[in-house]
Amino acid sequence: MSITIGVLALQGDVEENVNATREALRSLGLDGNVIQIKYPEHIARIDGLIIPGGESTVIGTLAMLNGSLKVIRERVSAGMPVLGTCAGMIVLAKRAYDRVVGETRQQLLNLLDVTVERNAFGRQIDSFEADLSIRVIGDKPFKGVFIRAPVVKSVGSNVDVLARLDDNNRIVAVQQGNMIGTSFHPELSGDTRLHEYFIRLCKEYKNR
Ligand code: GLN
Repeated sequence: MSITIGVLALQGDVEENVNATREALRSLGLDGNVIQIKYPEHIARIDGLIIPGGESTVIGTLAMLNGSLKVIRERVSAGMPVLGTCAGMIVLAKRAYDRVVGETRQQLLNLLDVTVERNAFGRQIDSFEADLSIRVIGDKPFKGVFIRAPVVKSVGSNVDVLARLDDNNRIVAVQQGNMIGTSFHPELSGDTRLHEYFIRLCKEYKNR
């Protein structure tokens, strides 16, 4: 049975996620489609959703205005897997604030039980790469690409920490059941293991 993964295509690095997901389907040997989601009515067709990196205030506002936010919230609450990368993780979160400007009262899905600090690395080092150990995808380190990235400041008791930065243990990847959030951009590392991990969740969900 063919699986359909959607990439929310309102703003951000949509193409990169589409390509990484296609690549991941190929390496898993799975038959599947990857489609760009622009309208809420398309959300009914998918078995999993990726919310890309970009600018979380823009993605949240556009998704609210066109009605997608509500439909995504309903489907994810009902068990559909979702992967939020960078800005996408912020949109998934219950609480977010900016390191410099504080509360921005932006539109959030309010699903992932974490508090996220946006732009947590500041201007000095706003982009960097770091090798991460992510046990659920295997022993080989995963190259995390961080671009004006958030960090997870606190997690609810129902949230698993998937990865931390070596320097001082900052949380940069989490999972709460069907929801995965990463501070970094797995779609940019040329390594599809995280997308593969996500697709496996989508497959289980579809076959449940
Ligand atoms: N700084 C962006 C935000 O706060 C996230 C950046 C990204 O997705 N690369 O929304």
